[in-house]
Amino acid sequence: MNVTFHLASAIGLGHAASRYVRTPDFSGWYGPGDATLLAPVFALGIFSHGILDGLWHQYPVPMRLDPLLSLILFLLWNAFIQRRFRLLLGVAFLGAILPDLVDLGPAIAGQFGLHLPNLSRLLGLHLPAAHLFPWHWPQGSGSIFDGSRRFVSLTNHFIVICFSAVAVWANRGIFKRSHLRLD
Ligand SMILES: [Zn+2]
Repeated sequence: MNVTFHLASAIGLGHAASRYVRTPDFSGWYGPGDATLLAPVFALGIFSHGILDGLWHQYPVPMRLDPLLSLILFLLWNAFIQRRFRLLLGVAFLGAILPDLVDLGPAIAGQFGLHLPNLSRLLGLHLPAAHLFPWHWPQGSGSIFDGSRRFVSLTNHFIVICFSAVAVWANRGIFKRSHLRLD
């Protein structure tokens, strides 16, 4: 799916995971006491990418706009949440885009004249399409490039947004109090 939708799932994941943050300091940064939470959130970010890419999907956000839009939305979201949750959301986002960075990064960088190694080839693996993650293989990806199954794609994107929206709403306490009246 578009990076923008991977960001949406990462935001949902970050909000859901925020309820396990124990550091009570409302003014500080993410506490070292909650460091162990980052690993599962990072892993779940990667897995969320697999679920989204496995669904039938077209690309509603133009590819050229997609990465920049995601970055802007991510930074904007960070401005509205308490400082102590920013690392958690950042790690969720990093996990959620890591598969694209690994598998598609070299091709994208190549367009700008940069040479990045293909990790699958570097490891000597002979994987389909030279991609490390199975949801980027032809038999594992739900990508639609021929314009078909538009309604199915739309439905799947709608489901992703609904899941994220529910997770955000159920864990809206991480927003800065000044921006949203809560409780
Ligand atoms: Zn992907």
